[in-house]
Amino acid sequence: MAKKQFKAESKRLMDLMVNSIYTHKEIFLREIISNASDAIDKLSYKALTDDGVGLSRSDFAIKISVDKENRTITVSDNGIGMTAAELESNLGVIAKSGSLSFKNEMDAEKAEGIDIIGQFGVGFYSAFMVSEKVTVISRAYGASEAAVWESEGADGYTVRAAEKDTVGTDIIMKIKSDTESENYGEFLEPFRLRGIIKKYSDYIRYPIIMDGETINSMVPLWQRTRAEVSDEELNRFYRDKFFDMEDPVKAILVSAEGLVSYKALLYIPKKAPYNYYTRDYAAGLQLYTNGVMIMENCAELLPECFRFVRGIVDSQDLSLNISREMLQHDRQLKIIATNLEKKIKTELKKLLTDEREKYEEFFKSFGLQLKYGVVADMGMKKEMLSELLLFSHASADGRLTLDEYVKAMPEDQKYVYYAVGESIPKLAALPQGEAVRDRGYDILYLTDDVDEFVMNIIHEYSGKELKSINADDTGLSSEEEKAETEKRQEEHQELMGFITETLKDKIASAKLSTKLKSSAACLSAEGDITLEMEKYFSSLPGNNKIKARRVLELNASHPSFDALKSAYASDREKAAKYSELLYFQALLLADLPLDEPLRFTQLISELMV
Ligand code: ADP
Repeated sequence: MAKKQFKAESKRLMDLMVNSIYTHKEIFLREIISNASDAIDKLSYKALTDDGVGLSRSDFAIKISVDKENRTITVSDNGIGMTAAELESNLGVIAKSGSLSFKNEMDAEKAEGIDIIGQFGVGFYSAFMVSEKVTVISRAYGASEAAVWESEGADGYTVRAAEKDTVGTDIIMKIKSDTESENYGEFLEPFRLRGIIKKYSDYIRYPIIMDGETINSMVPLWQRTRAEVSDEELNRFYRDKFFDMEDPVKAILVSAEGLVSYKALLYIPKKAPYNYYTRDYAAGLQLYTNGVMIMENCAELLPECFRFVRGIVDSQDLSLNISREMLQHDRQLKIIATNLEKKIKTELKKLLTDEREKYEEFFKSFGLQLKYGVVADMGMKKEMLSELLLFSHASADGRLTLDEYVKAMPEDQKYVYYAVGESIPKLAALPQGEAVRDRGYDILYLTDDVDEFVMNIIHEYSGKELKSINADDTGLSSEEEKAETEKRQEEHQELMGFITETLKDKIASAKLSTKLKSSAACLSAEGDITLEMEKYFSSLPGNNKIKARRVLELNASHPSFDALKSAYASDREKAAKYSELLYFQALLLADLPLDEPLRFTQLISELMV
């Protein structure tokens, strides 16, 4: 029979496995057992609704036998099995799940690629690390015939009809001969195999039977108490199950009894998957009931703001054949979701206080998600989320929480000051910040698109109002200073009217500023739409006409103001040009587009002649 070729990617992986110099070859058994367990999961799920399966939960098992003489290990399961076509499509091509990340990583690491094998669920192919030939005999549930798949490695495989009385799969691995450097024979020692099963597959929920004896304890990690599981076990489980190369920043075991009883094992990842902020990312937790997985990604268990959390929920109280539509209305599920949300919040807060470095790493990946969470649903979750946010700030490197900012505020400071812009250096250069900093007040610096909305929605923290340094009134002046400015404002009312008239297509009004120190002019906005919001809206696709009502603020103590004043007295044309120039300066400082760059350059050139 002609051999069929593996698909290109599978061939690469196969080559890698066959020639593996990887030291943890023992993981092949974990992979084969985990496939067997998945296959049983699938059939046991079917058995819930289909009497034809004829097996009950206690009938399911994974059996392992060793034939030392012929150097074979056989792993048999009575799971769902595969048809000839499935043998071909599942084992002739690299499987979808973990393999994608493997492939991406391969390109980056190439030569050292070998080392990363163990970090992925590399699956079935890992059998070739220790086997010279792998034979898979399988009969699918509902099929009357069986088929056998066979391969001696990278040069291809065959599939033909076979005999098998029962539904399920036998994987027969013919172990390689020993070489000078490698003792493959160790995998034929029951003692050694037992150790490997205990180490990697202890929590598999079906008995793994060897010589009539069940080797695994069958208690899944999430059914154990925290004291019974090591950090390493929790982390390894996470890496294998959720295909992450990195350990999570936190593993959370939950055991709840009461209105609804359930166990949960949740993980907070360190890095966002490459597709996290896209529609492709499927959020949700795996849902088990009575030890049977009923849903791979149950989105209803997680609030949107915590969609980065991965994990498993297992509850006996859920109905077994629950459908998607029913889930949305399921009361028990809602209770679990509410409790998990609280738990995640508490654990994040703990991480923030106790393990700041880890939290900062987490925040780099998922801070943006928390901010979206603040803004979503009219700020419904802002109370819960605002204390989890971190901000860059003016007075030092590093990041602050709102709490830390408020605690460090000098007694006379009334507001929490912040500035939103494109980058920290640009924010640090804003003239409006100078007066704030001069009083010894810190400023939070924000650079995400959504930030202006975040701050508007939070509005106040710990009784302190949040105030943009661009605000019309930044509240820095004392009553006397205010009265003084008002008086001067009145004195210059005519001039302000002239400027407003001159720039009438561009600004809503002109006024004397209380915020400026060494700069001549700046822009602020009246009303609810801030300059940052205007920038955000104009960055969106489509013709967005949402505009802030711009106010040109002038520094009356600046020499340019005197020049403007005397021009106004003697030469109106010149005064109009000066007004324009001051407006252009303010635009530049606010990081807003100069709509008329040519006009701007002309005005400057005129000054030079
Ligand atoms: P993965 O398990 O990550 O999907 P594998 O390469 O390990 O990748 O397996 C490929 C596919 O082959 C599996 O997804 C499954 O559909 C099928 N398969 C493997 N082993 C078994 C088995 N013992 N019983 C039924 N199907 C299996």
